[in-house]
Amino acid sequence: MKKITIAIDGFSSCGKSTMAKDLAKEIGYIYIDTGAMYRAVALYCIEHGLIEGKTINEDALQTAIRDIHISFRLNEQTGSPETYLNGEYVEDKIRTMEVSAVVSPVSALGFVREALVKQQQAMGEEKGIVMDGRDIGTVVFPNAELKIFVTASAEIRAQRRYDELKAKGETHSYEEILTNVKQRDEMDQQRAVSPLRCADDAILLDNSHLTIDEQKAWLREQFKRVTES
Ligand code: C5P
Repeated sequence: MKKITIAIDGFSSCGKSTMAKDLAKEIGYIYIDTGAMYRAVALYCIEHGLIEGKTINEDALQTAIRDIHISFRLNEQTGSPETYLNGEYVEDKIRTMEVSAVVSPVSALGFVREALVKQQQAMGEEKGIVMDGRDIGTVVFPNAELKIFVTASAEIRAQRRYDELKAKGETHSYEEILTNVKQRDEMDQQRAVSPLRCADDAILLDNSHLTIDEQKAWLREQFKRVTES
């Protein structure tokens, strides 16, 4: 069967990654979480003192960006890809609130986006890829055969994130997480470069009241519709 490109965009913590990852596994496609790539750059800034509060040392980051190499390796036990920054395992570190708090300003920088978009396009050259993020259907793969835009209410997304962090032993109040979700939504939608928006030809999915299994089944149907037509 001919391979296609699947672009999944949407708001933070709306379950994009879970359904994208699962579909990719099922159909034998590569899965790329582009949020993890922006998170890895944000982590690099924190670890190298390139960020103070939310102020980024842009000149230093622009020089450093050439030396920031992000890769994914499959964890054979879980079957999930994990993020590496310059060869170091960072999957857990990039998911913390510390990184969530600074990732949106880092990802709003044009030169950061340019560098990462180039890598993402190279990863998808052969098609057979499911990529999730904020600008996949609009900027990275505007010609993707299947584009999905996922949304859910901020309160429901914050609750999902709260449960996820709690399960990992990271305790933050629901209010703190809700504030972060809303701030990231706003910054991602308002930024000048590649703002978060639904591509004109994307299918909208509001999953506020869907279970994970229902979402996965819905996505599988969309894939079948496009590949079997
Ligand atoms: O998907 P996730 O919530 O992990 O993404 C973290 C942040 O990375 C987003 O809030 C957004 O600021 C940024 N991002 C982006 N473009 C993408 C993916 C993520 O700007 N394609």
